[in-house]
Amino acid sequence: MEFDYEHQASWPHAQAPWESPVALDTAATLSYWQQPHFAMRGFELQLSDKTATLSGDGSVLLDGREAQFQQLHFHCGGEHVIDGVRAPFEAHFVHQYADGENAVVAVPMSIGAANPTFAEILTAIGTGDTAYPISLAPLLPDSDYLHYWGSLTTPPVQEGVAWYVALGKVTMSAEQLSTYQHYFPGDNHRDLQPLAGRPVLRMRAK
Ligand SMILES: [Zn+2]
Repeated sequence: MEFDYEHQASWPHAQAPWESPVALDTAATLSYWQQPHFAMRGFELQLSDKTATLSGDGSVLLDGREAQFQQLHFHCGGEHVIDGVRAPFEAHFVHQYADGENAVVAVPMSIGAANPTFAEILTAIGTGDTAYPISLAPLLPDSDYLHYWGSLTTPPVQEGVAWYVALGKVTMSAEQLSTYQHYFPGDNHRDLQPLAGRPVLRMRAK
């Protein structure tokens, strides 16, 4: 599905009050001590057409609620801004709770050492292999996460989405980013939305 990132104001429901992404300030958060527990198994991943959306299987325990993994996709130009910094890339692990609500675990990725897991994903994209088993656990840092309630960041941008944004450092090489951009040219990040007084909680790993 293609969205026009040059004309985001024309997206449906784009003016709702509690939207994503947002700018997050780690100094203005309340802490609590709970770590998301990722039940990461080897995922059987599939590439849908020419988008970088990888379906899979698995679950995560977030604040005591289990959510089933739905799919992983990427944003070129990170969507969340943390302490004024926008990462060049952001991975979104979309999950769904039993009641139908969504939880998205967002992992901003910065430029640094090559990422072995992302290398496997690039290989899968390049070959178009539709049943490429990749363990996604290395893409999920054992770190603090910032939690707030927002929306999906692609139309119809519906609200009621629990966001968990990783603060841990996950890197990819500049070459990996340019390889990805070769397959999927252009930015696909939504503009920042007002936080509008929403509380942001810091889920501490330790
Ligand atoms: Zn996303």
